[in-house]
Amino acid sequence: IERKDKTYVWHPFTQMQDWVENKQLVIAAGDGIKLIDIDGKAYYDGVSSLWLNVHGHRKAAIDQAIIDQLGKIAHTTMLGLANIPAAELAEQLVKIAPPGLTRVFYSDSGSTAVEIAVKMAYQYWQLKGQTQKKKFITLTNAYHGDTVGSVSVGGIDLFHRIFAPLLFETVHAPSPSCFHCTLGDSPAACGFACVVAVEKLLADHHGEIAAMVVEPLVQGAAGMLVQPPGYLRRVRELTQRYGVLLIVDEVATGFGRTGRMFACEHEGVSPDLMTMAKGITGGYLPLAATLTTDEIYNAFLGPVEAQKTFFHGHSYTGNPLACAAALANLRIFRDEQVIENLGPKIEAARRKLAAFWQLAAVADIRQCGLMIGIELMQDKATKQPYPPAWRMGHRVCMKTREYGLIIRPLGDVVVFMPPLASTVEEIEEMLDIIYRAIAEVTN
Ligand code: PMP
Repeated sequence: IERKDKTYVWHPFTQMQDWVENKQLVIAAGDGIKLIDIDGKAYYDGVSSLWLNVHGHRKAAIDQAIIDQLGKIAHTTMLGLANIPAAELAEQLVKIAPPGLTRVFYSDSGSTAVEIAVKMAYQYWQLKGQTQKKKFITLTNAYHGDTVGSVSVGGIDLFHRIFAPLLFETVHAPSPSCFHCTLGDSPAACGFACVVAVEKLLADHHGEIAAMVVEPLVQGAAGMLVQPPGYLRRVRELTQRYGVLLIVDEVATGFGRTGRMFACEHEGVSPDLMTMAKGITGGYLPLAATLTTDEIYNAFLGPVEAQKTFFHGHSYTGNPLACAAALANLRIFRDEQVIENLGPKIEAARRKLAAFWQLAAVADIRQCGLMIGIELMQDKATKQPYPPAWRMGHRVCMKTREYGLIIRPLGDVVVFMPPLASTVEEIEEMLDIIYRAIAEVTN
């Protein structure tokens, strides 16, 4: 298998493989919150298989829902036809989403959900006759996916540069992350300088901005950058005041990750467009959704000749198997009171993490629910990072593997996103492994 993988598979980010002792880790099975490799060794899945897996692997109720649906139909197109799980799921998603989001547009990954939101926002203003509204405000460092539209609204230069001529026009607002902020130390001291910067962009580009795109509460792939409370609410007020749509990307934060079903709920914010993916099927099958309001949906109604149609419809849109898995996922949230039971787990992580400050290399610890980032630096007093070539974050994650825990870093931010199904004891044990790995590698 390793030979076949090496010979034939093009891994994302050009063969970014993590070899340990000259071996690529090949996963053969999953069991609860553990992954099992081809030699039978079990590892904790400490990043929920890229932030997706909510209730553990081989969760009986999800497996069964997929099997039951297989006995009916695996796939049928949504172009001109409806299917039962997709319609049932849309109703459920509208019920749990922030108020005002009334329509569900399906796709198959976080990137496509964002792509759709961006295209909808753009076309909406064209249909409304406000044809100058073409630009997007996005946050520096943001990651919203890797299709052309979603790359456009990202803030990572490395992803942008080569595709620059193809992208939507954007202006960048500073990332609202106090630890890395150059505008001030805390919102109390700086008067929310990051929000003031957004208002300045809205004023400078008045009448030209279609939408602002934000991840709520935490910029995940940017390095688990937790926003100061009140940021999202303030940004929402500004977008309303300036007549700009707000796109909230809940791809990473949705489905319980931050302690509520959606992160928007912490701030009482209802956006104009909201994206969800990753945890939507509990991490079982590819599915995503872009939710929007009556106001936006209605603008697209009319005969094709009126050129109002939203031209976007992937082959696997609204796939019944994936929608059946998503319905089972939501039933588990309800039946097992997943959100209600998160409190002690989040607190256990917080308690354990407090001890990490003792480690000389730990410069910052950021936690929002069970989204956790531990930032390593060579000198935390002066905030001097490690030389990138040392790959400290990567080395820590390779070390945790030796101790039976799989995690992935974001640069020198060690990311911990365990399945929500992890018990308090399992969370503590995984954090003990991370502590030990950081201590040993950075010693
Ligand atoms: N938005 C956010 C906030 C994400 O974290 C990600 C993936 N990490 C995406 C979009 C893209 O999702 P996908 O990888 O499923 O395309």
